[in-house]
Amino acid sequence: MERITGVMVQYYISCERELWFFANQINMNYDNEDILIGRIIHEKSYSRERKNVKFGDVSFDFIKDKNLTVFEIKKSSKLTEPVKYQLYYYLWYIKKFTGKKLNGVIVYPKEKKRERIKLTPKIEDEIEKILVKIKKIIKMETPPSIKVKPYCKRCSYHEFCMV
Ligand code: SF4
Repeated sequence: MERITGVMVQYYISCERELWFFANQINMNYDNEDILIGRIIHEKSYSRERKNVKFGDVSFDFIKDKNLTVFEIKKSSKLTEPVKYQLYYYLWYIKKFTGKKLNGVIVYPKEKKRERIKLTPKIEDEIEKILVKIKKIIKMETPPSIKVKPYCKRCSYHEFCMV
């Protein structure tokens, strides 16, 4: 299986074009202030937990072994749906390779918010279909066409897309 990361699943949900750029190593993130702020929040949050846990093709923010929960820390809740799918993918991946069904929590430290998510058979099925679509998109010769979205202005590829 080709390596599919959680960020790729997130990009698939938010923008297929962004996914293509990212998967084809066209990286424009170096001056994106949002990404820098996100990193700082991540570093300062939950300093006592196990962070950046790598497991096969995926790497998630941290895991609490006691109650088998995978955490994903985010700067803002603006992209809730894509982030949910990123975490669903981690839960799906862990279940596929260990047989264990873990729970997920998305944490927004700046907003003092958290959201719990669970893997259901319907979501598992959806994730499998998404992975097939991601593989197709990243192999395309050219990026998918531009579909303007509210967050295009904050996207690191917006100069490329000229939106
Ligand atoms: S600027 Fe908009 S269309 Fe272009 S990659 Fe980013 S989100 Fe997608």
